[in-house]
Amino acid sequence: MDHEQEEESEHSFYEFDLAEPIVKAIRETGYSVPTPIQVQAIPLIMEGRDVLGCAQTGTGKTAAFALPVIHRLTQCRQPPKNQIRKVRALVLTPTRELAAQVDESFRTYGKHSPLRHALVFGGVGATRQIKTLKPGVDILVATPGRLLDLLKQEHVDLGYVEILVLDEADRMLDMGFLPDVTELIRELPTARQTLFFSATMPPDIVDLASSILQDPAEIHVAPEHPTVEAVDQYVYHVEKHNKLQLLMHFLMSRQASRVLVFVKMKHHADRVAGQLVRHDIKADAIHSDKTQLMREKALADFKANRVNVLVATDIAARGIDVDGITHVVNYDVPRDCETYVHRIGRTARAGNRGIAVTFCEPEDEDALRAIERFIRCVLLVETDHPEYPPAPTRAPELQREAPSDRAKTRHRRGRSKKEVAKENKETTAPRSAVGQDIKPRRQPPREKQFRPEKQGKKRSGQTRKRG
Ligand code: AMP
Repeated sequence: MDHEQEEESEHSFYEFDLAEPIVKAIRETGYSVPTPIQVQAIPLIMEGRDVLGCAQTGTGKTAAFALPVIHRLTQCRQPPKNQIRKVRALVLTPTRELAAQVDESFRTYGKHSPLRHALVFGGVGATRQIKTLKPGVDILVATPGRLLDLLKQEHVDLGYVEILVLDEADRMLDMGFLPDVTELIRELPTARQTLFFSATMPPDIVDLASSILQDPAEIHVAPEHPTVEAVDQYVYHVEKHNKLQLLMHFLMSRQASRVLVFVKMKHHADRVAGQLVRHDIKADAIHSDKTQLMREKALADFKANRVNVLVATDIAARGIDVDGITHVVNYDVPRDCETYVHRIGRTARAGNRGIAVTFCEPEDEDALRAIERFIRCVLLVETDHPEYPPAPTRAPELQREAPSDRAKTRHRRGRSKKEVAKENKETTAPRSAVGQDIKPRRQPPREKQFRPEKQGKKRSGQTRKRG
């Protein structure tokens, strides 16, 4: 363990009294200090409390539940080797990718512990999974649909579950898994410990949580560096039919070595990735119509730099945990503000800064403005690209803001500085784990703002007086 770092932090993994094999595994993983969610959650879970955790990925939440779960399961006498093990901890996740990552975490943190773990998810044949379950496992990580099938076919018995973890419950709800989850929970013993994690707490999630948790300890953790603070965010105004050209221009003109591109439809993902490949850009697509093997390969290639650009839908990208993403591109403006925050959070991990760009068609203006209100900052407009200005339908003052050398200016869409300031002040972002802690983004120094005089062009901020 890094003693220098340990001294700087008030906390250490030693303070939890985790079993020695777990501490050894943590040491080998290279973590020196626990993250805030780990500091809060680990002691509560070790005590046996139910936990309601409002936290995003990237906060260290997997270890926050995996470490104490392994600890609790190893505290009891282990069954003899020839005896079939019962599932004692069940982790439900919305996507196969997240399930695979959680299972990998149990493998890492539990490598010196005598526990067996298994992973089951849909989209692949069940035979191998059934075979893994046969000798019995202590920890089962699963997506709800496949687990329900296996349960109905009596390949798994959930009657001995002591700890249930629901990970990313809000996504589970979004993806329509609530009925499956409820059915699965009915099969579990009522006397159990339940750990419930969700990035957001919409009313349906609060209802679900209160129906399955008993006297839970509540934990709210914002990422250490609130995402929007750590990401430089730009908007590129562009016509729909020029987006592909713009993407190629963007990729070729930047040092964008690991780029995650978000699109709204599965077939867009294939089409965009296909076009990039045709232009000799190493790209691949990931979405829920791809087989598990294809998705795993795309992800592995992306991680290994064999693919530089991964084009993804929101659902497929959920749970992707790849470090070193240099740029996030919102090829399509996301359907809601929280999705925007989740998307851009894929860059700027592990204390690094990141860059996120959003391609905005004229019809996306309202959605973009809603995002700006939500994150309480105004995105910078990048005008230095061949598709700018995009259309005659743009507001007159924006059309006058012509392309310039490295011109980046604050986009006010017909609002004066005063109006923007007032709007930012009055805006109340929706209450969410993400939104609550976000501070207004630092304004760039004045001198760095667009200086149009050289080109004899007007600045958008100077063309406020309309009508
Ligand atoms: P999660 O929020 O569980 O998706 O974790 C995000 C990333 O943080 C993963 O890559 C973990 O390996 C890493 N991580 C978890 N806990 C720690 C820690 N205490 N110190 C450093 N990295 C950590």
